[in-house]
This record gives sequence, structure tokens and C-alpha cells, in this order.
Amino acid sequence: MSIDLEQFSKYSKPGPRYTSYPTALEFSDDFKYESYLKYLEEGKERLSLYVHLPFCRSACYFCGCNVVFTSKENKLSRYVEYLKKEIDILASHLDTSREVIQFHFGGGTPTYYSAYELDAIMDYIKKAFPNFSSEAEISVEIDPRFFNEEQMKVFKSHGFNRISFGVQDFDAKVQEAVHRVQPYELTKAAVDLARSYGINSINTDLIYGLPYQSLESFQETLKKIVTLNPDRLAVFNYAHVPWLKKTMRKFDETTIPSPATKLAIFQYTIDFLTENGYKMIGMDHFAKPEDELFGAIEKGELHRNFQGYTTKGGANLIGIGLTSIGEGARYYAQNTKDMKAYEDAIESGKLPFERGVELSEDDYIRKQVIMELMANFSIDIKRVESELGINFKEYFADSLESLNEFIEEGLVTLSEDKLKVSETGTLLIRNIAMPFDAYMQKYMGSKKSFSKTV
Ligand code: SF4
Repeated sequence: MSIDLEQFSKYSKPGPRYTSYPTALEFSDDFKYESYLKYLEEGKERLSLYVHLPFCRSACYFCGCNVVFTSKENKLSRYVEYLKKEIDILASHLDTSREVIQFHFGGGTPTYYSAYELDAIMDYIKKAFPNFSSEAEISVEIDPRFFNEEQMKVFKSHGFNRISFGVQDFDAKVQEAVHRVQPYELTKAAVDLARSYGINSINTDLIYGLPYQSLESFQETLKKIVTLNPDRLAVFNYAHVPWLKKTMRKFDETTIPSPATKLAIFQYTIDFLTENGYKMIGMDHFAKPEDELFGAIEKGELHRNFQGYTTKGGANLIGIGLTSIGEGARYYAQNTKDMKAYEDAIESGKLPFERGVELSEDDYIRKQVIMELMANFSIDIKRVESELGINFKEYFADSLESLNEFIEEGLVTLSEDKLKVSETGTLLIRNIAMPFDAYMQKYMGSKKSFSKTV
């Protein structure tokens, strides 16, 4: 892939990552608790459970997750007690015999919890939701700095089959700047441990756009990461949003690579990982050709959600724990970010739901189109028309007009039945999705809405 990086820099502007549509900026308390309960009670789809364990020992300055920093063990145990009560309340509002096809522990640092506590949480969940599919994808995010064999045994005993390791970058200077010192040997030991317990779907996360990164330094990181032979890699564009995340203010912004350098890094990443047997999937994921994500692209079954890309589309995602987000076909629902409000809600017998959005018909249509674009880099116009009952080119006349500049540059092609993003255009997929977003106009000119697309 060869592109004019300077020319592409003009596309560096604030834009959503589209892990949801509408984006979280549209979540509000207009979506009422009673409406959320109704969706839960009437839902029949299979379940995807997300459990948020928000605690971390110390801050990685790039982190955009909802995290509680603490060194107090009693806070961790107290949270587990509330989590159990939340699960009880949840179980009284939905049919827990629905099949669970996906389970994910996210954080925070899930492995900040001891093996004993992780075991207790999983036991509780499995009692409350007894119908885990034998094919369920059961996964956890692991910080190699907090991971031991006892925890691995617990994961194994509960059928975990996917592990995602946070790495970000192996360069010592970058690690120091982002306040996350994690030697290669430590990461390797963690990956080896997981493999020795038969985990054969291992993901590693990298981030580009961090302070002091250069094309050369990231090349070294890539060389090291492939020696770990991960089955999947996520290579995220660092989202610099210091107005939202205080720890990001610790960065000297002059050390953050320019858009042209970031594009060069990502272009190199695509080429390097392709040469090493990986295939790019969606905006920022790579997998070996035998990975099921890859098969899903061929079948047009790749889906995008809050955890990135998945083959398990159509499930009802239930968010459990502080700040977690749930998703149904027609809604998004988010729990409170405030620990006291979280505990108070549960004490009063209510779910800690705080806000969300119910999708209008227009939201629903745009969601299908944007998510298809983000996942498959193309839109099957005829299928969209028959499934959504619209005339695509009429419904999206304004969007298509805004896409003209991408079409003229050869980044997008539009035929009677297909809108297709070129290989180079995939680097700008967020920009290409934005014309389909009805809310973009509202945020134009606001510098403090989203991270930059490039
Ligand atoms: S990157 Fe992970 S370990 Fe670091 S602060 Fe964020 S959630 Fe915690």
C-alpha cells in the first residue's frame, strides 16, 4: 500500500470510532429506566454478557477506559458484593434461561482480583445465567503485570477460551512516558502461561500515536510482537481526549507523533502484519486467515460493537457493573460512572442504569449502514434496500454527495449495488462513515467532541 501521507493528513479531524451509533454523546436521561426494563423483560435474543471490573493499581496515561485507581483491597471486595446484588436484580428482570453465547470480563484490570475472587464472581454469574452455550466465547482482558497461574487455572476451569493481553508498545522510552513499564519478557511469560493452559485464541493490543513513538520505534515493537505469535492483534489509534481524561494531560503534546507519522506507522503496520501472515479486519484488527473473524468477513457476518469486532452479531449485550454499556437492536443503556450512585441504586433494589438512547427508525437505518461500513468496508446496497425498505441512493442522497471527495480520490467506488472502500480508503474509514451520521453536523466545529480520525 502506497499513499501520499501529507495529502492524507488533511483528513485528520475529530470523528467517532463508531463502536455505537448513535455515539455515546447522544446518550441521555431521555431514555428512562422503565423503558430499559421493558427491553430487558421482552428480549428474546441470545445473550452477550459484559462484566466491568473497574479497578487498576496505577494509571496508564493513555487510557480511555472507565477506571477506579486504588490500592485498597477492601474496595475490590466491596464491589464484588454489589456486583452480585446487581446480578440478582438483573435476573429478576430478564429471562435468564436465554442462551449466553458471549461473556467478557473487561476493565480496569480484571486480574487485579485474586483467583479466589474471580472464581466467586464466575460461579455467581453461571448460577444466575445457567444456559452458557458450549460454543460460547468466554474472554478476559489481562494486564501481564498482574497475572498468575492461580488466576489462569480459574479461567481455564470456567471455560475461558480467549485472552486479550494489553501491551501497547515495547519501547522503553514510550513505556516510561505512558507510565506503563512492562518488559517484553513479562508479556512473553504471560502469553506462554495462557498457551500452556490451552488458550488458543490470544489477542494482543498495541497503540500507535503515543508520545515518543516513531516509525522506527514502532517497527521494533511489531517485530517483537510477532515473536509472541498472537492469533489476533488490535492496533489502535491513540485517542487523545485530554478534556475528558485527566491523565492524558500529563503528556507533553509536542512528543505526540504528527498525523503523517501516525499514518506512516499504520501503513507500515498493515504491510508488516500482512507479510507475517495476518489479514486486516475492520478498522484496527488483524487476524490469521484461519481465525473465525476472517471467515466472517467472507460471509459478510462481521459485526462491530463496544468490544471492537465480533462474529456474534444479533445478541443482546447486557452490561453489568460500573459504567458498563448494554446494547439491544433498538437501544443502548449505560450504567452510572459514579461508585456511590452505583451502590445507592443497588441498595434501593434498582439496576444502576443511568442513561442511554432509544433508536429512532432513522437511527436504526443509519446504524446498520455505518456498522456494515466499519466492519466490512463496503455496503451491499441491494441487501440494505430489501432489509430496511429504503431506496438507498434517495435516502442517503446528502451522504453520497458528501462522499464525492472520497469517490473522486478513488478511495470509495459506488456502483448500482455496492459501495466499496478501496484498500487505501480503509485508513480513513471513520471519515468515510461520518457522512452517514445524522448527528455529525451538530458536532462540527466542536473541537472537544471526538478524538482525531488520523
Ligand atoms: S490501560 Fe488497563 S491497566 Fe492501564 S489504566 Fe487503563 S485499564 Fe488500567
